[in-house]
Amino acid sequence: MAEPPNPDADPVVRRALAPGRWEQVEVMPYKDAGQAPFRDISRQLLFAEADLTAELRYFEIDAGGYSTLERHRHRHAVLVLHGRGRCLVGDRIHDVAEHDLVSIGADTWHQFRADRGSALGFLCLVNRERDRPQLPEAADLATLRADPAIAAFIRTAGTAETDRHD
Ligand code: MN
Repeated sequence: MAEPPNPDADPVVRRALAPGRWEQVEVMPYKDAGQAPFRDISRQLLFAEADLTAELRYFEIDAGGYSTLERHRHRHAVLVLHGRGRCLVGDRIHDVAEHDLVSIGADTWHQFRADRGSALGFLCLVNRERDRPQLPEAADLATLRADPAIAAFIRTAGTAETDRHD
């Protein structure tokens, strides 16, 4: 929802209103619904200046939610701002908590999940010009699921039904 321009808005310092909320920053859906599987996650574009070649976004995953399992050419540089969760990066699942840094390389499968009892909020730095994420196909999922820990971790279109139960 676009706010009308505020003549008193400070363009230099936008104040934190609460953890993960800022003045003049719109809380948006993570992605358009139906495009790819995800749950209970929002997106905020913190810095997207035309003369920067990067964007800094803030994502917040509610307890039990998850980002889309995807890969792409562009890298992610992630800083966990609050909460706890786990992330799959490549072929490993990592516990992550406040102030941890996560590097996600090119063409690397990745998915973030918030813990059951905790939201997970993180900053994510990306190139402004970037390729579209690629979703796993059946063969990719078979490869990922060869590891039982990854099979149990990942959330895909086919696992949505069971999300509430494990
Ligand atoms: Mn990504």
